[in-house]
Amino acid sequence: MCICIDCQHVDACTTYHAVEAQHQQPHLTEHPDFEPTKPTINVNIRTHDTEIQMEWDVVGCESFYPEWGKWARLRPGELLPT
Ligand code: SF4
Repeated sequence: MCICIDCQHVDACTTYHAVEAQHQQPHLTEHPDFEPTKPTINVNIRTHDTEIQMEWDVVGCESFYPEWGKWARLRPGELLPT
């Protein structure tokens, strides 16, 4: 699970914007302007027949600033991104 969903910067962060793109999710903002310090991204690669799926998760970040449930508040009623 990506730690960004509980981070105050999630709706302004350039790294989370890239993660959304990788997951083909709609962006929380089209113009991210927050550059995080040393985000660590875990990339899981799965193959299924000829299809290759990549899942990106931010698992560490020096700019993480907790705001529990921030993503869920911005997208009420939607499933949390995995
Ligand atoms: S944890 Fe880091 S990468 Fe994720 S939203 Fe927060 S600042 Fe951005």
